Amino acid sequence: MSHQHRVLIVGAGPCGLMTACELRRRGIDAAVVDAAEKPQRGSRAILLWPPSLRLYRDLGILPEAERRGVTIRALSYYLGPGRTLRVPLPPAMAPLVLPQEVTDELLGAELERLGGSVEWGAALSSLAAAGDEVRVELRRAGGTIEPRRVDWLIGADGFRSTTRDALGIEFAGERLPTTFLLAEGDLTGDYDREAVNYYLSRTGVVLVAPLPGGKVRISGPLPEGSEVTGDTAQRMLDERAPGGLRLTNLTLNTSFTSHERIAARLRVGRCFLVGDAAHTHSVVGGQGLNLGFGDARNLAWKLAGVLDGRLDPKILDSYDVERRAAAEQVVRVTGRMARQAVLSPFAAWMRNTLFSTAHRLGVLARKLPPLYAGWSIRYPQTLFGPSPGARAGFLPPAGAHSPEWTIGGGLHGANGANGANGANGANGANGANGPNEKDRFELVTIGPADTSERAEAAAFADRHGALVSHRHVVAGKQGFLLLRPDGFVAASGRRGDLRWLADEFATLAVSTKETHR
Ligand SMILES: Cc1cc2nc3c(=O)[nH]c(=O)nc-3n(C[C@H](O)[C@H](O)[C@H](O)COP(=O)(O)OP(=O)(O)OC[C@H]3O[C@@H](n4cnc5c(N)ncnc54)[C@H](O)[C@@H]3O)c2cc1C
Repeated sequence: MSHQHRVLIVGAGPCGLMTACELRRRGIDAAVVDAAEKPQRGSRAILLWPPSLRLYRDLGILPEAERRGVTIRALSYYLGPGRTLRVPLPPAMAPLVLPQEVTDELLGAELERLGGSVEWGAALSSLAAAGDEVRVELRRAGGTIEPRRVDWLIGADGFRSTTRDALGIEFAGERLPTTFLLAEGDLTGDYDREAVNYYLSRTGVVLVAPLPGGKVRISGPLPEGSEVTGDTAQRMLDERAPGGLRLTNLTLNTSFTSHERIAARLRVGRCFLVGDAAHTHSVVGGQGLNLGFGDARNLAWKLAGVLDGRLDPKILDSYDVERRAAAEQVVRVTGRMARQAVLSPFAAWMRNTLFSTAHRLGVLARKLPPLYAGWSIRYPQTLFGPSPGARAGFLPPAGAHSPEWTIGGGLHGANGANGANGANGANGANGANGPNEKDRFELVTIGPADTSERAEAAAFADRHGALVSHRHVVAGKQGFLLLRPDGFVAASGRRGDLRWLADEFATLAVSTKETHR
């Protein structure tokens, strides 16, 4: 039985590939196997929201993705003749449209650049946890069974996950009743080519999204009793959009249904679930990759921190709690969106009236972009006990994403969408130079230039140099934020709470360089 890799990732879809890249760029030996003989083709997940694009940026594949994709600048809502609302998307909220097969290609190439590869035609057929290792069997083409032993296993094997089944994890939920048509082709006529266009007519809903190369994707509830044909797609446009849109040269015409399901556990010992293996939801809103890539990032910095001996293994428990909470939020939001697509004419009229009012009051522009972009995801407080002194309106609560917060005019998205991790190492005394230097927490103190808290925080960062950097923002109010490597707020407090933080943090940090197999 061979024992070759520390981490085995089952499934080379986008979430498996992203997890592999995230681990390998942190120096972790991660192998990937996939049951299929070659990569899947097809556009499937086309929307990449900013939290996902941040991962592309960190991997260095964002420029190529942008070259091959189309940036969406607005959400456009047609509510009836002469009533179209346009919600602009600022850069930190704007998604990139990129067919999933291109995402797979870019991530696959990056994985190879990082020294990894995918073993195609190797299907996980069984697994068993045994002490501090996981024993698996891989079935090769022709039926040969190959046993393997690994330290950790990550199931990224999609909706019908063998990993999930082998771990005996329930995948509770339901199938959504609506069947959606999905077509791609050329579209002529008047529509916003820089927006995702939602046509919310009283007779039904249809979506038009631009694709790279000038084609579009059309999607909406399939009219009852209709076949999936080009005529049906055209009829949906004629009946639900303002008219004058002509769909030709179809390259795809299919239908799909969605499920709303979340795995009962995302971690069993040394095995984890990511991506569709962990959760699935309505594709309305295009959140699938955002959610799965969020799993990859959440798990990678924690597992790498444990494997290189900086973090206590108990941090891995937070993966399940945090990512199940994220999945619940996405299931809820996308479920609501999906249900709004199948309303009676009267309920549709009510929906559109509410939309108009919300737009007039500025609520749509304020609420929708961060919700779609994925910046509204909140985690329960998992790493430490409740922060003692966070005050609403001044400091963000633990579990919030940091890019939304601007404090004292000086803290702009540190570790966030546009932050480029610029503050890491701001405290020159922190000497972490390993591959995981970017994975440090960032302690931001806020207050006058010279305070005892500032000195206390600098000393704290020095004590945990491999895990924490420190930055001070001069401002009238006083407090601190501890930002996690993935951009979420780990803790926040007021003047005098730093001692509490030091005690809490000590339970997470491994001070000696012992390694965990
Ligand atoms: C029509 C459609 C449109 C969609 N549109 C969007 C969208 O606009 N935006 C969005 O974000 N999401 C969208 N999605 C969802 C998106 O495609 C999924 O969320 C995404 O593919 C999940 O990626 P994954 O890596 O978790 O799983 P998958 O892509 O399903 O990959 C799983 C991999 O595991 C492999 N595998 C399975 N079993 C085994 C085994 N036993 N051993 C080894 N390997 C195995 C499979 O061969 C496969 O390669 C859409 C989905 C559909 C169907």
